Amino acid sequence: MSSLKIILVRTQIPENLGAVVRAMGNFNITELCLVEPRFDHMHAKARAMSAGNEQVLKGAILCSSLEEAIADCQLVYATSASVRDMNKPVKSPEKAAQNLHKLKGKNAIVFGPERSGLLNDEITLCQGLIQIPVNPVFSSLNIAQASVVVFYEYFKMLSDQEIDMVSPKIDIAENAMRTVFFNKLEQVLDRHNFWRVPTKKPMMWRNIKNIFTSHHYTHQEMKTLTGIVSDILKRRTKYEK
Ligand code: SAH
Repeated sequence: MSSLKIILVRTQIPENLGAVVRAMGNFNITELCLVEPRFDHMHAKARAMSAGNEQVLKGAILCSSLEEAIADCQLVYATSASVRDMNKPVKSPEKAAQNLHKLKGKNAIVFGPERSGLLNDEITLCQGLIQIPVNPVFSSLNIAQASVVVFYEYFKMLSDQEIDMVSPKIDIAENAMRTVFFNKLEQVLDRHNFWRVPTKKPMMWRNIKNIFTSHHYTHQEMKTLTGIVSDILKRRTKYEK
């Protein structure tokens, strides 16, 4: 069985945090990570709305970026009311729950800020998107209500014996390895002035990262990819001397 971390990014309203924590208790999920919450996470209103699940609030890990929060995770789903203009697998809560249960390591589900949702750069870091099917002209759910739907599907599947696990011999790399690879790849591309038009870099770089985030790589494959770009970096340095 996998272990699931819930990550809330820049949550703005204490009552919403409390209501998500309450839902975590309802569906037996205990690990919470908060990326730059906009208030003290032990706010009285958050505690009241957690309906007694205060130990999860107290135990929350605080992080300064999503990248840091997902470093130890293999499969990360961002949740969003709208499908963004990027090549990212979009799953129903049910299908996402199946995939999360297939992997033995640590996985995460990410929820965005109430007003604007997650940034495209943050969604790029995730392996896929969960979109709860809703009325297309009124698609934005309250964050805590969205969490209930997603947690319910995850919980329901705990008793489902039909899930084919990914072989334990296949050791899927955590996102931290991807970050190391991305840092080196960016250095190579910067050095070779790959972007040409500098204003185009943010979008091009997001698209390139999406090629590598949506697929699961093993530790060995990630090492190989990083080794290739490290080698190119070293050679370039030699030529420059
Ligand atoms: N306009 C924002 C809405 C933010 S609502 C957006 O496009 O995402 C706050 C959070 O609730 C979202 O970041 C997401 O985590 C969750 N959420 C709201 N509606 C959702 C839906 N239909 N499917 C999945 N998650 C949803």
